[in-house]
Amino acid sequence: MLLPNENNYISTIPAIGDTPIRRCDFLSNIYKTNILIKEEFHNPGMSSKDRPALFMIQDAIQRQRIQSGGTFVEASSGNTGLGVTMIARRLGYKAKIFVSKSCSQEKINKLEEAGASIEICDNSNGLQDFQSTQFRAQSFAAKEENAFFTNQYYNTQNIRAHYKTTGPEIWEQTSNKITHFLCGVGTGGTISGVGRFLKEQREDIHIWGIEPKGSILQHYLAHRTAPENIQPFEAIEGIGRNFVPGSFDPQPIDHIFQVGKEPSKRAALWYYQNTDIQCGFSSAAVLASLHKYSHIMQFNPEDQVLLFFPDHGSRYISKLYSKPVDEEVINAINIDG
Ligand code: PMP
Repeated sequence: MLLPNENNYISTIPAIGDTPIRRCDFLSNIYKTNILIKEEFHNPGMSSKDRPALFMIQDAIQRQRIQSGGTFVEASSGNTGLGVTMIARRLGYKAKIFVSKSCSQEKINKLEEAGASIEICDNSNGLQDFQSTQFRAQSFAAKEENAFFTNQYYNTQNIRAHYKTTGPEIWEQTSNKITHFLCGVGTGGTISGVGRFLKEQREDIHIWGIEPKGSILQHYLAHRTAPENIQPFEAIEGIGRNFVPGSFDPQPIDHIFQVGKEPSKRAALWYYQNTDIQCGFSSAAVLASLHKYSHIMQFNPEDQVLLFFPDHGSRYISKLYSKPVDEEVINAINIDG
């Protein structure tokens, strides 16, 4: 990585990326195919968002958009904020993170521990809303001296990070055999960057996004325009939008599936019950999509289906894992939602 001041970042930055992919036997047996999981919680900040955070910071420093000791500013559901904070602090900068009030307490605690200055905002509805994380972050950065808004929703380095690192890693780790890529869509950076890279290697690969019911990107993908009436919906932390981010590139994406919040919660418990791994909320949404749409997805036994797990359940104990797992919940996984 071409970053200045090499001695300062030695312990965190080389550890970003190169996360494992593991075959999940219990899911592979159920869906009669090969289900692989990319476990992004092995990144130092315990999420995939360390990757765009590093690229955005590196780019700003290289283009001299910020001077040493300045403040990196981000609007985040928590994970990008943590990546930005961790890397900024390691390189001698400060971090100011605007999170929405729906952000889990565990993520806020993590941000505090990492040394971020935090502002809690009403929503993350985009720059048109004065109370949103994005608007407030942008306004703060404009007024503050020596501050840079990394702006994951519009920064081209977000897609580039996944195009340059996550995509090639997946291609190599699956020995060029991946047939399906499934991931949650928030800013769109992951699916756009990984999707673009994988489609360049293999045109017939399936690139499928997952978002909460009521989010608008499924409609946007099908019609290339936002729906006329945008209704409030139940977001799942990290995914779901009521505006089209600049880092969402529809080009490589074949389809976006929608799932409910409750089935996603049940999927998280079900996965935990079967694997002893507590996955994150958006990872659980990807699992819920398998249940709801496996009749449409129609996998073949030789397929290599990769599920992208951006973060870990330790960020969502209060939201997902506070109740003991019971059979009723597990069996309810198939209920539509
Ligand atoms: N899941 C989680 C937990 C996230 O933090 C994010 C990023 N907001 C996503 C999924 C979506 O990733 P992307 O922004 O690249 O679409």
